[in-house]
Amino acid sequence: MSGRAWRIAVVGSGPSGMYATGHLVDHYDGPYATPSLGPVEVDVYDRLPTPWGLVRGGVAPDHAAKKRVTRVFDTISTYPGVRFLGNVEIGRDVAVDELAGWYDAVVYAYGARTGRTLDVPGADLPGVHTAHDVVAWYNGRPEHAGDDVRPAGGRVVVVGNGNVALDVARVLALPPDALAVTDVAAHAETVLRASAPGEVVVVGRRGPEHAAFGVDELEELLGVDGVDVVVDPDDLPEPAVELRGTAARRLDLLRELAHRPRGGQPRRVVLRFHRSPTEIVGDGRVTGVRLRDDRAGGGVEELDAAAVVMAIGYRAAGLPGLPFDGERHVLPSDAGRVVSGGGAVPGAYATGWIKRGPTGIIGTNKACARETVTSLAADAVAGRLPTAGTLDAAEVLRRVTARAPDVVSWRGWRAIDLVETSRGWAQGRPRRKVVDVAEMVEHARR
Ligand code: NAP
Repeated sequence: MSGRAWRIAVVGSGPSGMYATGHLVDHYDGPYATPSLGPVEVDVYDRLPTPWGLVRGGVAPDHAAKKRVTRVFDTISTYPGVRFLGNVEIGRDVAVDELAGWYDAVVYAYGARTGRTLDVPGADLPGVHTAHDVVAWYNGRPEHAGDDVRPAGGRVVVVGNGNVALDVARVLALPPDALAVTDVAAHAETVLRASAPGEVVVVGRRGPEHAAFGVDELEELLGVDGVDVVVDPDDLPEPAVELRGTAARRLDLLRELAHRPRGGQPRRVVLRFHRSPTEIVGDGRVTGVRLRDDRAGGGVEELDAAAVVMAIGYRAAGLPGLPFDGERHVLPSDAGRVVSGGGAVPGAYATGWIKRGPTGIIGTNKACARETVTSLAADAVAGRLPTAGTLDAAEVLRRVTARAPDVVSWRGWRAIDLVETSRGWAQGRPRRKVVDVAEMVEHARR
């Protein structure tokens, strides 16, 4: 390869894709410095017309500070040669092997698109949701805008004990005034104002000493006005249990909560431990959950529930044309190189949740992407990339537009962003999201 820039596709514009793009283009001396690769052009694909993946569609609406990381992504998007091809789905509009032929290398950063669910009777009843879907619903992801999430003023049972479970519990319990200053999707706000749950029960299968949620996230829940957080003293371990660090602080806080008098608030979040759902009950729609006490001699109880949310992890899917590890639900990889049958697939790389599985915070993706781009750069320098059929930027755009005529550029996204922030500011919020793809495309065209 001589005299031209490297042409790289990044599939997914969430944190992992944007950090990978940052590492790719800022390889001289910037904050993402990676081994020298020379000039690079990056096309960032996303199946939505809007970028930023989980930061827009996953971070809780009341976590405005966490979303400020998009300023970093904004900066990366302004680098020369970084294009956005939004509203283009790889695997539907463009096949994996086509993409591989068009570029010197492809970095897959498309994350985990669904939630895990439990294999118990009744898990497929209407009113049982994965946390992935509920989060996507209240965050205005277009494909979930019409989901029938109905707390109905009753009890919502959230299964799982991670930060996603606490996020879902907190957002469902947020009083209207607190929701009103967030970028929660309008359809979800309407439902939550009219029929917020009176009680959210968060159910962990292990004891409080093994909870997966963080201390900061628990403290944040305790800070929500108008919500009592309740722990049953019977669920606590013997005082003799010795823990250190975060686990000790979390247990101290849970102990303190168990002995705190109820505040008489209108809404409650109850943290239950040692409980596993054995059945979701309902005739045509969920009405309750059977919970087994997993401790020796523990019985089974039935809790009424208007809705059940499975917050037991996210799950990624494969793409036709790529190898897939069906047990870990990731693209099999070695230092970011996608591998198949023991060897690297030339020009294919992975980063983020599709590489590591659904764990870690936004910042974890920075180091993850750096490892992947370092491997890519080493392969490029060593002549291991399949460069023969690579197309230039204009030809790629011509082919993409033939398949997906409503492709959205950075400029188009900025037009959508302006509409959303203007609407939001008029209401005292950071933004009011557009959730309809056709409307997004219309704003982008202007
Ligand atoms: P997670 O932290 O892995 O928690 C999953 C929870 O589901 C665990 O409590 C786990 O219990 C439980 N679980 C798994 N299988 C189960 C089963 N069959 N039956 C009952 N319970 C089951 O995952 P997550 O909450 O989805 O979060 C994903 C990642 O995003 C995490 O790294 C998290 O920290 C991060 N995140 C961070 C924030 C934040 O920074 N505020 C917000 C949201 C998410 P066991 O522990 O017993 O396996």
